[in-house]
Amino acid sequence: MQNGNTNKIWELLDTVPDPEIPVISVVELGVIRNVEYKKNTYFISITPTYSGCPAVKTFTDDISNCLKTNGIENFELKKVYSPAWTTNWMSKATKEKLKKYGIAPPSDSIICPQCDSKNTALISDFGATACKALYKCNDCLEPFEFFKCI
Ligand SMILES: [Zn+2]
Repeated sequence: MQNGNTNKIWELLDTVPDPEIPVISVVELGVIRNVEYKKNTYFISITPTYSGCPAVKTFTDDISNCLKTNGIENFELKKVYSPAWTTNWMSKATKEKLKKYGIAPPSDSIICPQCDSKNTALISDFGATACKALYKCNDCLEPFEFFKCI
């Protein structure tokens, strides 16, 4: 595919799951800032989420592999650090998916994804990854992860 169809690139990127939250794609996460076609090359701008998050390396590899598998070799991934990624870039639909997956989406109030209770308590500032904190629901007693707001 050499015709500069950036929509096709977006479609392919939307099939690449976030390495930590497989129910959402890297596009839904909001880390793909731009796709441009210049001089026979697709330039894909990526804004990493939490700096130092080990997932960044994984998802840039996953993106490269996905494009190559689909016969696209003429691309360059460039990391863009400004403006910094924020959880505001996640769509409402994406937050809904997170909740269904059992992760409390970024929000001002931390709500149990299982029973919608606001009666929750912080267990640990760091869950499985630095991007998430571990909480417990005082009503249904289920522990859950909260995707931290930044
Ligand atoms: Zn609960």
